[in-house]
Amino acid sequence: MAHLGVFEQLRNKESLDGLVEDAIVWATAHGLVMVPAKAEPASAVCHAPIALTPVPYPRDTFVRAKSAAEDFSLLMDAVARDEEYLVRTLSPVAKHDDFVARQLGVLQRTAAERAQHRASENVISHLRSDYMLHEPTSSLLQVEINTIGVSFACLGSKTAGLHRHLLGRLGGSEADAERLPGNEALTGLVDAIGAAVRSYEAAARSAEARDSPAVVVMRNLYDQQWVQLGLWERHGVRTLRRTLAQLAAQAALAERRGDGARALTVDGERVAVVYYRAGYVPDDYLDPERDWAARELVERSDAFKLPSVAYQLAGAKKVQQDLATPGRVEAFFAATATDAEAARAARALVRSFFAGQWAPGEPEAHEAVADALARPEAYVLKPQREGGGHNLYGAALRAKLAEGGEALGAYVLMQRIAPPIHRAVLLRDGAAREADTLSELGVYSVLVRQGGRIVLSQGAGHLVRTKTADSDEGGVAAGYGVLDSPILV
Ligand code: ADP
Ligand code: MG
Repeated sequence: MAHLGVFEQLRNKESLDGLVEDAIVWATAHGLVMVPAKAEPASAVCHAPIALTPVPYPRDTFVRAKSAAEDFSLLMDAVARDEEYLVRTLSPVAKHDDFVARQLGVLQRTAAERAQHRASENVISHLRSDYMLHEPTSSLLQVEINTIGVSFACLGSKTAGLHRHLLGRLGGSEADAERLPGNEALTGLVDAIGAAVRSYEAAARSAEARDSPAVVVMRNLYDQQWVQLGLWERHGVRTLRRTLAQLAAQAALAERRGDGARALTVDGERVAVVYYRAGYVPDDYLDPERDWAARELVERSDAFKLPSVAYQLAGAKKVQQDLATPGRVEAFFAATATDAEAARAARALVRSFFAGQWAPGEPEAHEAVADALARPEAYVLKPQREGGGHNLYGAALRAKLAEGGEALGAYVLMQRIAPPIHRAVLLRDGAAREADTLSELGVYSVLVRQGGRIVLSQGAGHLVRTKTADSDEGGVAAGYGVLDSPILV
C-alpha cells in the first residue's frame, strides 16, 4: 500500500470489519447504490461495488489526462460531423456486423434531411475517455473512448465522497485530503443537458412559443436516475422515462418548420433531448424493426440526441483504431482549428495517448498479427461492442486470428496495456475481499453545439474503476470491477 498516506495505517488503526461496515453504511445512506443485476429496478438496491481505499495515481498523469478532455470532445465532434468518413471507415465492418450495419443504415437514410438544417443542428455529447497506465513505458494509454450511455458519473463522484469520509474517520490530515481530487462529473453531465434544453427553448421560441420541452431518458438501471434528479433540481427540467418500445409507440414528428426542421413529440410533449442510457447493445432492441424505426424517427427530428447515430458510430472501436493511423487526427484537428498553434498542441497531446492498434485483416497489420499469434498475451482482440465481456484474449484471440478471413474486418487488434498492480480491498454485495488489482481512469467531457456555435465545451470530472488483476474485463455493472477514486501521488 505504498503512497496511501493515512490509509496505510488502516489495519493498525481500525479493525477492517469496522471500516467495511462504515463504508457500506455511508454508501447506502448517500445513494452510492446499484440495483443488483437480477433484481427489478424498484425492488431492491445494494451498495455499489467499491474499493475500500483510493488507488495511488501519479498526479502529473492525472492532470494531463484531464487536460485532454476538451480536445477529445472537439476531435469526436469533427469525426461525427464527417459522415462520409464514417461510412467509408465502417462499411467494411458493417458487412460482418449487423448492429453497425443498422446504425449506418439510419445514418445514410437520414443524411439528406439532416443536411437541410445543418446550420441550426442541435448536437450534444457526453464522452468518457478511458485510460490505463502502461507500466513498461510509464505512459498513459487510451483503452477506448465512449460516446453512448456514458455512465457512473454520479456513483464515481460519490466514491470520492466515501473515500474522503473514510479518510476523516482514520484521522487524515488536510494534506491527505488535498490528495483526493474533487469530482464534478455528475453536475458536468447534468449541466450539459440543461444547457441543451435552454438552447433548444431559445431557438424554438423564435420559431414558435410553447411550453417548456422535456427530456426523454431511455431507461436502463440506477445510475441515470441521478441525472434525472439533477436535471430537476438544478435546471427545473422534467424527464420522461421511456423504453425503446414505448418510444416506438409514442414518438411523432411535428409539422416541418420554416427552417426545415421538425420537432419531436413523445406522448404529445415536445422533447428537447433524447438521452440514450440504453440502446448501445443489440439486446436492447427487443423488436429490432420497431425499435430501430423509433431511433430513426428521433434521428430525423430537431431534438438533441445524446448521442446521435453519427456520434455512436464515431465511438466504434474501429474508428478509434483508424484515428491512430498517421495523419488522421491531424486532418480532423485541421478541420476544427481556429488557432494553428493550439491545434498542434492538441493533436500531439491526443496522439500521445494512443496505444498500438491494427486492422487485423489489412496488409499493414501483418507483423502485428504474426506477433499476436506468437504472443497472444501481449494483445487484445476487440469486436465492435460496448458494455464489457466481448473482447478476446489469449487462446481465444489466437484462434480467431488464425481463422483469418474477411470476418476479421469487424475486429480491432490492440496492444495490451500493462498497468501497475496494487493490493486493494474490494467490497461487493456486503462482502470484502483483498486482491491484487489494476485500475482504469475515465475522463468525462461534454459538448453542446447549435449549428456552428459551440454553446458549451469542457471537461467534466473523472471515474476510476478497479478490477482484480487476473480478470480481463473491467465492467462494474457487468460484475467485473468496482468503483474507486484516485489519491494523487
Ligand atoms: P467495452 O466497450 O466493452 O467497455 P473496452 O475496450 O473498454 O470495451 O474493454 C473492456 C475492458 O477490457 C476494459 O475496461 C479493460 O479492462 C480491458 N481492456 C480493453 N482494452 C485493453 C487493452 N488494450 N489492454 C488491456 N486491457 C484492455
Ligand atoms: Mg470500456
